[in-house]
Amino acid sequence: MDVVSVKNLVKRYGNTIALDHFNMSIAQGEVFGLLGPNGSGKTTAINCIFQLLTYDKGEIELFGQPMSPTRYDLKRRIGIVPQNVAVFEELTVRENIDYFCGLYIEDAKQRRTCVEDAIGFVGLEDYVKHRPRKLSGGLLRRLNIACGIAHKPELAFFDEPTVAVDPQSRASILEGIQRMNAEGMTVVYTSHYMEEVEDICSRIMIMDKGRTLAIGTNAQLKVMTGIGERIEMDVLSLPEAARAKVQGLECVQSAEYDGRVLRIVCSSGQHNVADVLGVLRTFDMQPGRIWAEPPTLNDVFLEITGRDLRD
Ligand code: ADP
Ligand code: MG
Repeated sequence: MDVVSVKNLVKRYGNTIALDHFNMSIAQGEVFGLLGPNGSGKTTAINCIFQLLTYDKGEIELFGQPMSPTRYDLKRRIGIVPQNVAVFEELTVRENIDYFCGLYIEDAKQRRTCVEDAIGFVGLEDYVKHRPRKLSGGLLRRLNIACGIAHKPELAFFDEPTVAVDPQSRASILEGIQRMNAEGMTVVYTSHYMEEVEDICSRIMIMDKGRTLAIGTNAQLKVMTGIGERIEMDVLSLPEAARAKVQGLECVQSAEYDGRVLRIVCSSGQHNVADVLGVLRTFDMQPGRIWAEPPTLNDVFLEITGRDLRD
């Protein structure tokens, strides 16, 4: 059974179509990544699923049951960590977490355990008595997460939880999410950072303009593109004949030389660096620094849309 099933969801804001017959199914236990540039519809999709927004058309089922604004029984099985931090300024860290947890868990003893676990999960032990305004951006994000997941939901949505966060908090957030998943929580994770989606997601959907462009594991998505690794080599001087020979290799899509660096885009395949070096050797050339990067999800996005995910 799918934990999340969305069929033909359409959402308009006036004349803007934010979700255009959007479909999504997520199985129990996944860390499902929703990757798309700003404005592609990620937040709208989550807010429709949680019934925070009305929508024009479509069917949403959670845990195999139709979702509606009054399905509080389903809502308490879900956690939502909103893109914009939503906490109370007049409450301390612990009081904030306790408040949000209390929306779902009435039993004081059980709630205390949940609140302490949440504090541990996000690593806020040293800040429990602070008020939000005393926290750095990264710590505030961690508090936002703790408030969203303290009631130990079976399914949690994290909407761009690492935007504008310092590297230490970012690592702590990603690691915390993976631990929660290991303990049984199904995770939906939205981001426009391809690196972190690659790192933590078992399956990834790439979306743009309210539609699904591609879906699969990180490896599957990369096989879909014809792009292999990108290679750069420092070369002091390169005869045009040598560049042309490199360009002519079967594995090479393009080879450009700017007087200092030879930049090569390969098609998927193996031994690309070795093949290029072989050509240079026939010209008696030995490059300096060599740098190779495997294909990224940005390459996939670029190939499908002709645009850069990072723009
Ligand atoms: P993402 O979360 O992927 O950045 P959003 O879901 O926020 O994307 O936005 C999707 C589209 O809907 C964008 O074109 C955005 O400008 C538009 N949009 C989002 N919220 C509103 C709103 N409250 N009113 C009007 N348009 C909106
Ligand atoms: Mg968003």
